[in-house]
Amino acid sequence: MRRSATVMEMPKVISSEKTGRKYRRRSVRGVPLFMDEGIISDMANHADIGYAEDKEVLGLISGRVYRDEEGEYSIASGTATARLDATGVSVRFDPDCLEDLFASIDESGGDAVIGWYHSHPGFGCYLSDVDIRTHSDIFGKGTGFAVVLDPSDGTLMVFTVEDGEPKAAQMVVSEDG
Ligand SMILES: [Zn+2]
Repeated sequence: MRRSATVMEMPKVISSEKTGRKYRRRSVRGVPLFMDEGIISDMANHADIGYAEDKEVLGLISGRVYRDEEGEYSIASGTATARLDATGVSVRFDPDCLEDLFASIDESGGDAVIGWYHSHPGFGCYLSDVDIRTHSDIFGKGTGFAVVLDPSDGTLMVFTVEDGEPKAAQMVVSEDG
């Protein structure tokens, strides 16, 4: 059985925008992604709602990309989702809703899509081959983060994809100020 998350006809994003990376030294060395716990809660709550209906969920993570001596890193600012076509082992955005979805991110002022999240209700946190293709469709050769949640046991993992291979990524979660 193929477990999949498919982002249909997603325009190439947004995180490949290289101009205007603001210099700002990251608060923890070696970490490429920073996120408030409120954003984690948003994703976890969404995954729980899907789990109650035995469905995967899917959304985008907005944020900003900064640079420092170590290179680029991202600070998440929120999540966005749209109407989904979902089953227990697959999910995609309703193609009719994509325009509004991207508009909702553009309107938030200087943010880019820095990642995406989806859930694997009951089958663990990893990236399937389809997930890896979806990730590449969204981010191309740019950096993006894939968050996978399993609401059956409350686990969450973050991945990047390098040369077609998923790599677990570190994330610092901060308390909401
Ligand atoms: Zn998946």
